[in-house]
Amino acid sequence: MMRKIFNALLLLAVAVCFALTAVGCNCGGHQHDFKTLKSDGTFHWQECSCGERDGQEAHKGGVPTDVKKAVCEVCGVEYGNVVVFAEGLDYQLSSDESYYLVSGIGSFEGKELVVPAEHGGKPVKRIAKGAFAECDKLKNVIIAFNVEIVEEQAFVSSSIESLIIGNGVKAIEKEAFRECNKLISAEISSSVNSLGSYAFMSCDMLSDIEVSKDNQLFKSVNGSLFSKDGSVLIQYSLGKSEEHFTIPEGVATIGVAAFADSVKLKKVTLSKEISSVCALAFADCKNLTVLEYPKTKADWATVKTDVNWNYRSGITETTCQDGNV
Ligand SMILES: [Zn+2]
Ligand SMILES: [Zn+2]
Repeated sequence: MMRKIFNALLLLAVAVCFALTAVGCNCGGHQHDFKTLKSDGTFHWQECSCGERDGQEAHKGGVPTDVKKAVCEVCGVEYGNVVVFAEGLDYQLSSDESYYLVSGIGSFEGKELVVPAEHGGKPVKRIAKGAFAECDKLKNVIIAFNVEIVEEQAFVSSSIESLIIGNGVKAIEKEAFRECNKLISAEISSSVNSLGSYAFMSCDMLSDIEVSKDNQLFKSVNGSLFSKDGSVLIQYSLGKSEEHFTIPEGVATIGVAAFADSVKLKKVTLSKEISSVCALAFADCKNLTVLEYPKTKADWATVKTDVNWNYRSGITETTCQDGNV
């Protein structure tokens, strides 16, 4: 009996010592202070005088230019590479002659387009309407620096695969990236405060729309685009492989053409809060045959559905809790 108690106490003592060591106690060593911020080319971390590291993460933030690398917003070191601005693009001078608009690909032959900060000594502030429409040369696009507006249809039906809308860009006009059938990922910065209709409509492969956490109007949830408060589903990511999508709780409005042209979805479950379904929301969703509504037929009758909300879709009726309508 005594031996059992002794063994139990010994085990307990060993366990306590292990636990204390794990949280950094004084047994056998010292209390780490992690006071010094250190970094290398990729990471920064807090370091104790004994060499132990804590909180290591990759450098982040800062915008590189053609002569200077990005400066990490946490530790202040330069990281990554300088950017190589696209050369040979076509430009057009603004009517007040204060800035330039990029108006076409010109003689540029690269696949990576970094829109220059300046041209002819003036800032490049806009991508003109249709500038890269149907362009089949570009793969990766970075729009930042002085660009404020991406005009309508700027990249419509182009071959781009990745897109970074950087800080400074305020507006993305209608149809700017519509039918970019190779586009997989799009990053939207905090400064974007206006997004035109159909901006990302029918981008079949788009599976990851990322939005900066600091953006005041928009947010991303599992790669799809929502209003910041989560009440409007603006654009579903058509590239996702799932066949059944459940609209998150709190969504009241399904935006214009939000699911249009989805070929993968077979079933969509609406949220309880849904109160309006905008024009073309499910247009051309040919394989979408089941639309499930988690309330009654009488409730469904109060939901506002715009003209053509299910134009040429597979939806013939809506499945409510008490039957189909
Ligand atoms: Zn230490
Ligand atoms: Zn850093």
